[in-house]
Amino acid sequence: MDRTNYDIIIIGAGPAGLMAALQCCGAHKKTCVLERMPAVAMKLKITGKGRCNLTNSADRKQAMNHFGANGRFLKYAFGKFYNIDLLSFFNRLGIHFVLERGGRYFPEHKDAGKVAAALLNEINRENIELITGTAVTDIRYITGKGFQVSLSGKGITDNGQSNLNVLQADKVLLGTGGKSYPGTGSNGSGFRLAAKLGHTITPLYPSLVPLSSETKIEQELDGLVLKNVAVSAWCNDEKIGEDFGEMAFCQRGIEGPVVLAQSGKIVRQLERQLPVYISIDLKPALDHHKLEARLLRELNRHDKQNLKTLLKRLLPKKMIPVFLRRLNIAAEKPLNRITSKERKSLRLLLKHFSIRITGHSSFKNALVTSGGVCLDEINPRTMESRRVKNLFFAGEILDLDADTGGFNLQAAFSTGWLAGRSL
Ligand SMILES: Cc1cc2nc3c(=O)[nH]c(=O)nc-3n(C[C@H](O)[C@H](O)[C@H](O)COP(=O)(O)OP(=O)(O)OC[C@H]3O[C@@H](n4cnc5c(N)ncnc54)[C@H](O)[C@@H]3O)c2cc1C
Repeated sequence: MDRTNYDIIIIGAGPAGLMAALQCCGAHKKTCVLERMPAVAMKLKITGKGRCNLTNSADRKQAMNHFGANGRFLKYAFGKFYNIDLLSFFNRLGIHFVLERGGRYFPEHKDAGKVAAALLNEINRENIELITGTAVTDIRYITGKGFQVSLSGKGITDNGQSNLNVLQADKVLLGTGGKSYPGTGSNGSGFRLAAKLGHTITPLYPSLVPLSSETKIEQELDGLVLKNVAVSAWCNDEKIGEDFGEMAFCQRGIEGPVVLAQSGKIVRQLERQLPVYISIDLKPALDHHKLEARLLRELNRHDKQNLKTLLKRLLPKKMIPVFLRRLNIAAEKPLNRITSKERKSLRLLLKHFSIRITGHSSFKNALVTSGGVCLDEINPRTMESRRVKNLFFAGEILDLDADTGGFNLQAAFSTGWLAGRSL
């Protein structure tokens, strides 16, 4: 067998690349998947804290909104292959799913590794050539000849004879992912390959990433999880995002779904050196009027108690020292001596506990990459480059990223499916 000439070379064996390979193999094309890591889909194996939040029950339009303005690009791909199609695809491979809070679908067996294994089984069953442990270092398009794909190191071995480090292909798909969690293989090398082929790469930022504060409050509150809070993000007195749910403080920073969901927007403002705050509403079920009534009741009923005792009823224990510091009132002050001004300060702090955000974790701890191959240069109906004929893209390498909920994997599988069919 000639191991240098292929009809199609797919670079990257993540969700996008593997799905594309499975869709184009039916056309009996000579296809090869190249993966730099020793195993396929390393990132998929750690998704959803190892449980794999595969997709979401949101309708297509709602799902597209989760990708911001660029979500429109997915209209055709989602129109052709969306959540029910993806769930059916995996049902056929023997994996069944359960619907959880927030419309999130997880496999019944709660094992992301088995989702990756099912894809690999399918690749083997279809006899698709898969070469792992080899990184693509260069791609050249030569008019009339197609693509020359260069491999790292010694490349691959031809039937034990010689080492091959340049392969030829009529068509190439880049499914190399973003640059977050580089230990899983997606180290951003695909952006360099795309740029060299003439594509524009929009600025890259870590997204769905822990944030850090000026005062390092995350270290003081390490381990604290706040449930059912409303968190809004502010830049120059303008609200840039808001969400309701759970957030957490840990050594890595401030995280949890409501913070991660807004982190992309916050990181962009921080990169522009603009001041950013998050404001936590610790009592979202009570408006100011109701909270004022509750505080008055507390102060009247328990007038012999002190402020610290009241705070124990209103806050998680870890937050009490921070509150006392910010209120600048003695912990032992009796409730019957709390002034109306002090009561107002307490109410405002409960409704607007603000934290100045001054930094964020790097790509190493980001769940996704924001930015990527500019969508104007890709045909959304085929995933083919508008710049280089027979060059295709799918997955996170594109300038597409969403918040948590299963949307990022759905986009990788949908664009991979469409690119594979077009190939
Ligand atoms: C910790 C974590 C948890 C996540 N959880 C979820 C979740 O539950 N739900 C969800 O929707 N999304 C989740 N995501 C995001 C999701 O995993 C990605 O969006 C998705 O994997 C992107 O798929 P992809 O195929 O485009 O890229 P990737 O999965 O990154 O795959 C790209 C592949 O290309 C290979 N590659 C890169 N460069 C080269 C090269 N030069 N030559 C050869 N091979 C190369 C890489 O090794 C990699 O295997 C999570 C991400 C992380 C980091």
